Amino acid sequence: LGRKINSALIDFSKAPVVDEKVLDSLLKDICAALLASDVNVMLVQRLRNNVKKSVNINDMGGGVNKKKVIQKAVMDELFELVDPGVEPYKPVKGRANVFMMVGLQGAGKTTTCTKLAAHYQRKGWKVALVCADTFRAGAFDQLKQNATKAKIPYYGSYTENDPVSIALEGVEKFKADRFEIIIVDTSGRHKQEAELFEEMKQISAAVQPDSTVFVMDGTIGQAAEGQAKAFKEAADFGSIIMTKMDGHAKGGGAISAVAASQSPVIFIGTGEHMYDLDRFEPQSFVRKMLGMGDMRDLVEKVQDMKLDQNKNLMKNLEAGRYSLRDMYDQFQQISKMGPLSKLMGSIPGMPADMLQGSEEESGKRFKRMMTIMDSMTDTELDGDNKAFEKDRSRIVRVAQGSGTSVHEVEEILTQYTRFAQMVKTMGGKSGLLSNMPTDP
Ligand code: GDP
Ligand code: MG
Repeated sequence: LGRKINSALIDFSKAPVVDEKVLDSLLKDICAALLASDVNVMLVQRLRNNVKKSVNINDMGGGVNKKKVIQKAVMDELFELVDPGVEPYKPVKGRANVFMMVGLQGAGKTTTCTKLAAHYQRKGWKVALVCADTFRAGAFDQLKQNATKAKIPYYGSYTENDPVSIALEGVEKFKADRFEIIIVDTSGRHKQEAELFEEMKQISAAVQPDSTVFVMDGTIGQAAEGQAKAFKEAADFGSIIMTKMDGHAKGGGAISAVAASQSPVIFIGTGEHMYDLDRFEPQSFVRKMLGMGDMRDLVEKVQDMKLDQNKNLMKNLEAGRYSLRDMYDQFQQISKMGPLSKLMGSIPGMPADMLQGSEEESGKRFKRMMTIMDSMTDTELDGDNKAFEKDRSRIVRVAQGSGTSVHEVEEILTQYTRFAQMVKTMGGKSGLLSNMPTDP
C-alpha cells in the first residue's frame, strides 16, 4: 500500500499544473491503493468526497501552493481514519487496574496478554495475569509458560472449569495482593457465536474490568469491520490491539476496525515474541503507509531499550560474566530495534554477517536464534556452553525441540563462545551495551 500511495503522490508532485483532472487522478490512485489494502469501500468513498470538499481548486488564489494543500487534506483524512478521537484507558498508579482481553480464537489474545503485561512490567508496574480460558485445552499451560518466561505472576486452574469463577478468584487474589495491572485472558471461539459473547459478558460482569481490549488478527482484511462491530456490541471494548502486523497484514483491517467501533488501536503486535508489541500511533501508521518512515518511532525504541536494559545483564557484563541468557537478552533488544540494528554494526565482536542482508533478514536471523534458545532449559540458559560440550545429547534435544538442526544449535554456541570471550577480555565497561548509539 505504502509504495502505491507514495508513487501516486510523487506523480502528483511532478505534475506541472494542478487542476481538477490532476486531483481526480491522484484521488483515484489513492483510493485504489486503499481498496487494495482492504479498506472498506464506504470509507474510501468518504475520504475521496471529504478531500474534494475541503480543497476547492478553482477557488484557490494564485499564491496558494495547491499541491501542499491537497497533500495535507489527504493526510488529514487518512489520520482521521485511524484516529477516532477517543482516549484509551490510562491505568492509575497505586490501585488495581483490570484489563480483560477479548477476541476470536487464534487472534493472539494469550500471546498479547503477556506482551502487554511485560510492557507494563518494564515500566515499573506490579503486573499479574489471569487465565480464564477453560475452553481451549492447554490454554492455561500456554499462559503459564509465557508468564514464567517473563517472570510475571499468574493465576489459573486445571480443575475448575467455570471461567467466571476463575476470573473472579484470580482478580480478587491479585487485588488483595496489591497488584496494579491485572490482565484477564479469556477464551475465544472460531466464530462469533452467542455462547462466546455470553461468556464474555458474564466474566465482564464478574470482574468489572477497567478496560476491555479487543484483540484482532490484523490479517483478516475486509472481515475486520463485521468482527469489530460484533465484539463492540457484545463486549463494549474500549480499545483495540491489532496482531500479526509483521506478516502480510495490510493497513485496512485496522482502519475498518476503528471505523466500525469508534475505538482506538493502542498497540500492534509485530511478531510472536514477548517484545513484539509496538505502541500504535495514528500519525506514524499513516506515514508508514505512505512510505515516509517514522523517526519518532525509532527514537522511542532506542529509549525503551535503554530502560529495558536488564540490570542483571549490565551487572554481569561489568563483572565480565556472560551467560547464554545474557546473549538471548541482547538478541531480543537488537531485534526489537528493527532498522536501528544496522547502526549496531559497530558493536565490537558482533560479526558483520549477523547484521548482513536486509533489515527483515537480519531480524529473522535473530528471531530464529531466539526460537532455538527458547528450547533450552533455564539451567542451560543461565550457564555457558560447557554443559553442551559435556553432553552433546543436549544439542540434539534443543535442535529437535526447536525444529532446527544440530548444526544451527552449534552455530549459536560458537557465537556465544565468541561473545563470552569478548566480554571476558573487555570486562564490561567498554563492552557491548556501552557502545549503543544514543541518538539515531
Ligand atoms: P488466542 O487464541 O487469541 O489466545 O491466540 P494465541 O495468543 O494463542 O495466538 C495464536 C497464534 O498467533 C500463535 O501462534 C501466536 O504465536 C501467533 N501470534 C500472536 N500474535 C502475533 C503477532 O503479532 N505476530 C505473529 N506473527 N504471530 C502472532
Ligand atoms: Mg488463548
